[in-house]
Amino acid sequence: MAWDFSTEPQFQEQLDWVDEFCRTEVEPLDLVFPGAAYSRDRKARALADPLKQQVKDRGLWALFLDRELGGPGFGQLKLALLNEILGRYRTAPVIFGTAAPDTGNMEMLAAYGTDAQKGRWLYPLMNQEIFSAYSMTEPQGGSDPSLFQTHATRDGDEWVINGEKWFTSAGARADIIFVMCTNGMFVVPRDTPGVEIMEYPAIHNHIRYNGVRVPIDHLLGPEDGARVLAQRRLGGGRIHHAMRTVAQVKLAFDIMCERVLSRESHGKVIAHHQMVQEAIADSYAEINMLRLLVLWTAWTIDNSSTREARTQIAACKYTCAKVLREVSYRALHIMGSLGTTDLTPLQAMWASAPTMAIADGVDEVHKVTVARNVLKGYQPHPGLWPTEYLPAKREQARKKYASLLAADADLAAWADAAARATSRRY
Ligand SMILES: Cc1cc2nc3c(=O)[nH]c(=O)nc-3n(C[C@H](O)[C@H](O)[C@H](O)COP(=O)(O)OP(=O)(O)OC[C@H]3O[C@@H](n4cnc5c(N)ncnc54)[C@H](O)[C@@H]3O)c2cc1C
Repeated sequence: MAWDFSTEPQFQEQLDWVDEFCRTEVEPLDLVFPGAAYSRDRKARALADPLKQQVKDRGLWALFLDRELGGPGFGQLKLALLNEILGRYRTAPVIFGTAAPDTGNMEMLAAYGTDAQKGRWLYPLMNQEIFSAYSMTEPQGGSDPSLFQTHATRDGDEWVINGEKWFTSAGARADIIFVMCTNGMFVVPRDTPGVEIMEYPAIHNHIRYNGVRVPIDHLLGPEDGARVLAQRRLGGGRIHHAMRTVAQVKLAFDIMCERVLSRESHGKVIAHHQMVQEAIADSYAEINMLRLLVLWTAWTIDNSSTREARTQIAACKYTCAKVLREVSYRALHIMGSLGTTDLTPLQAMWASAPTMAIADGVDEVHKVTVARNVLKGYQPHPGLWPTEYLPAKREQARKKYASLLAADADLAAWADAAARATSRRY
């Protein structure tokens, strides 16, 4: 029987270790030295590096990469189960070598890089010796790549890049930036002359590329291949976001459940008020619907490809934003005044829901993808009536019993009466 919802004991042991490790090592580091895991400060890094080493020793480093791409080859389903834990802790993805935007960039490099490009960028990225950013969105519009203008021109042994990008996450601190041009994907070292980082936004940077010159071997994949590379990158990234969102909504749910049992109002613990019970029941069902959608999608990727699973990935993308919005809001609301402060993770979690609905493509675009792909499996009905128009279906079905109806008047009357009774309901 293939429909098995259990986790194999060996991997469950790994997950139990991860759970314990995150609670006892990663969370304290996050609370006292936030950002140490990706800091360039030598002392801060010295706090995080031993934790990364422990992850490597367990064989859990860079779990998102397939074996042929340089990772342990556990696949997306196992990664989803792992991310259900990591997503709860701010820097756990960095400690486990699975943090965006490096993950997507590494996937692109692993899939399309030459041996020399992998040697120069992929392995240092895997070891977090360098960090990267991804520059695709342009200020005049992000949802429609046909509006993008950033372009590279060949000049002898160099490419010269001109254009403007917007919302390049961590661009200002990256060592290399993957710049999507209309005619290819280029790897640009951030300190290349002509890379101008604007003052705002502070984290998701606005960057001008003013005649930026890179050697010809900084083109990644084929010339004019940027959209294919971008799809490869974003497909993986979106499902990883969804996996981590499962962790976030479970955290919101845990906070909410603890609170409803701890607080009294109008003569009883609030868990006994029916509207509070509705919030718990709806959240429970929505979290599990999201979780199963994500796990099924991860399983599909493992058994086919990211491309084959693109409809499911798109559905995960807007569903995770919706469930995050609903569940985090309910949890925040049930916390009362405390929920509106930054003294629990809930306010930040709720505020991140709109981001989840925009980053890596707005909800609307993913819904269009789902509707368009799903409708490919359907046809318009041939005549006037829909296929499920019951009188027409019944007429068809009567042909199967034609000889019986002709031979037995009682059964014919029975069938006629049943048909009239059904029609009278309308
Ligand atoms: C936190 C965060 C991090 C990000 N990191 C990066 C990054 O590292 N690199 C990068 O390149 N980009 C990044 N982005 C940018 C992100 O990919 C874009 O914001 C996104 O693609 C939408 O583009 P836009 O902001 O220009 O919105 P627009 O394309 O202007 O869309 C605005 C609104 O218009 C409507 N709309 C647009 N298209 C359609 C449609 N087809 N049908 C119906 N309605 C539509 C929707 O309501 C949509 O929300 C990040 C964004 C966020 C929020």
